[in-house]
Amino acid sequence: MRIVFLGPPGAGKGTQTRLLRARLRLHQIATGDMLRANLANGTKLGREAQPYVERGELVPDSLVIAMIEGELDRNAAGFVMDGFPRTVAQAEALDAMLARRGTPLDAALLLKVERAVLIARLSARWTNPRTGRTYNALTSPPKVAGICDDDGKPLVQREDDRAETVAKRLQVYDEQTRPLVDYYRKAGKLIEIDALGSIEAVTDRIAAAIGAATHSEAS
Ligand code: AMP
Repeated sequence: MRIVFLGPPGAGKGTQTRLLRARLRLHQIATGDMLRANLANGTKLGREAQPYVERGELVPDSLVIAMIEGELDRNAAGFVMDGFPRTVAQAEALDAMLARRGTPLDAALLLKVERAVLIARLSARWTNPRTGRTYNALTSPPKVAGICDDDGKPLVQREDDRAETVAKRLQVYDEQTRPLVDYYRKAGKLIEIDALGSIEAVTDRIAAAIGAATHSEAS
């Protein structure tokens, strides 16, 4: 099964991708995590991407498309993507890459959340920079404040979760990424999910929606 997640920053794409990966045993491809790893390791790609990530802007399409192509070579059979595509050009490139491999996308899942909730979630978000796992200090805190339950190491607040950068990222979403909703609706691949409520409730809604979509395809 090949799935992409759509939705603004803070909608829960990363959290739900990780849970779905475990449930469906799919490979996870998260471009934000990959870029942050490149930044931390000081690679050429990381140095090129850094100014964009820090400003809350999108990294140029050519850089992220090349990064994704390598991942697809290893995982075209089944994956769940978080944070890619983010522009129509990226979506078209993904369709072309998957068509060449004979492995088309099954669904684009749109996580829908009100703007006020997004801002509240992002400002309370703590991240394990090593794994990308996130916590919410108010609604889903770690067992020990500031420490990841998984590896016992410190959590951090992402630089780009600061208020000014969050506003920029939401604006970038509206201008450059929201058009993908229509793109996938026209392709008959869009599945809209109410992403308010507990993490588990949203995962159940997603699993039910995917099950229904694959079932109706098979029948
Ligand atoms: P995320 O962790 O998905 O919120 O991504 C963090 C940042 O990485 C974004 O604000 C962008 O600067 C960059 N980024 C991640 N994915 C993409 C993408 N598909 N296209 C362009 N920039 C991206």
